[in-house]
Amino acid sequence: KPNGKPKPGRRRLGVMGGTFDPIHHGHLVAAQEVAAQFGLDEVVFVPTGQPWQKSHRTVSAAEDRYLMTVIATAENPQFSVSRIDVDRKGPTYTIDTLRELHDLNPDTDLFFITGADALGQILTWRDAEELFSLAHFIGVTRPGHTLTDPGLPAGGVTLVEVPALAISSTDCRARVAKGDPVWYLVPDGVVRYIDKRQLYRGE
Ligand code: ATP
Ligand code: MG
Repeated sequence: KPNGKPKPGRRRLGVMGGTFDPIHHGHLVAAQEVAAQFGLDEVVFVPTGQPWQKSHRTVSAAEDRYLMTVIATAENPQFSVSRIDVDRKGPTYTIDTLRELHDLNPDTDLFFITGADALGQILTWRDAEELFSLAHFIGVTRPGHTLTDPGLPAGGVTLVEVPALAISSTDCRARVAKGDPVWYLVPDGVVRYIDKRQLYRGE
């Protein structure tokens, strides 16, 4: 779908939240596939600030995760990156992300993209009911996880099959720590950035 052409009616904006520590091709394929299937005008990647669900491990500096996300998405005219969660103080809650994007983007329908693993926990998220009024939820397949409707209000979620890439950030970090290559699991620029900043070495 050609980018930048003004369309009558409402803009359709995909929202891909994540820790992106590091961003990998599983994230990018999921975003691309949802954009194509749903006719989205744009997908905005939103790296988390301090992630509350991951307090058991050290998460890389938000600035590093933000920059890797920019590097990975820069050449796709349909992809952008938002700093809203990185710049907000305190832990990131998706409800805050969606409220802010909703206020920043009038006349826009939001489509929150989430993998099968995260979708299963969605009803435990803060202000779950309001979440569904702010965005349509799109659950995408992920190898190793079962994609099931979490029981949202009718029509609140759509399940979508995306090309299966059995890649996780956890695995990428473990590979770097062991000295194994991550070429072709993450974009080339991200491999070089990890190396430049010596990320994931001591894990
Ligand atoms: P970690 O292993 O650190 O949890 P991750 O690979 O799960 O990292 P996240 O940043 O936690 O990456 O994920 C952001 C979003 O992308 C989540 O909704 C997650 O379910 C989804 N996602 C991650 N990897 C894939 C994949 N390979 N295929 C489809 N969706 C994915
Ligand atoms: Mg994850």
